[in-house]
Amino acid sequence: MKTVCDFCKTEYSLDAAPTGPVKCAVCGHTWTIPRQTRRSPILVFIAALCALLAAAVFAFAVMYQHRVTEIQNHPLVAQLDDISIESDEENGTSQFVVDGRVVNRSSQIYGVPGLVVISYDAAGNIVARQRFLPPATLLDAGASANFRHTLSVPIDNVDKISVELETQGD
Ligand SMILES: [Zn+2]
Repeated sequence: MKTVCDFCKTEYSLDAAPTGPVKCAVCGHTWTIPRQTRRSPILVFIAALCALLAAAVFAFAVMYQHRVTEIQNHPLVAQLDDISIESDEENGTSQFVVDGRVVNRSSQIYGVPGLVVISYDAAGNIVARQRFLPPATLLDAGASANFRHTLSVPIDNVDKISVELETQGD
C-alpha cells in the first residue's frame, strides 16, 4: 500500500498496513494510517441487488418503448383464427375458408386497409395472393373486426396460408 507524509509529502510504499503510527524518515513527522474498512458482505449484496433491479427496470423500459414504437408503426394487425375446408357438393370441389380478425392495438381510431390472403405451397412459394375488402371501414381504439373469406385456389396446392394488411405498395 502507499502512504504519504502529511508534512513533507514524501511517499512511502508499505508491504502491509502498519499496526501503529508511521514516522517519516525525512522530516520525522508521525502519522497514523486509518485501518482499511472492509466492505460489509450485506452492503455488497444490497449494492448488487440494486444494480440488478436497475438493469431489470431498464430492460423493461426498453421493451416497453419497443412495444410502443411497434404499435405506432403497426397500429392494426391482421390475424388468422381458423382455417377450415368447405366442400361444394354440387361441383365436387373443396375450398379453404379462412376466419380471422383485424385488431386495432392503438389508442386512436384507424381506417382499415384491404386484406391480402397469401397461399403458399409446401416449398414456400406463393401460390396465390387474394385481396379482400376489409371487414370494417374504421376501427375504434382497441376494437377488432372479424372476417371470413373463401379462397379460390385448389386446396391440393396449398400448404400454408397467411393474412396481411394491404400496404401502400400492394
Ligand atoms: Zn515527512
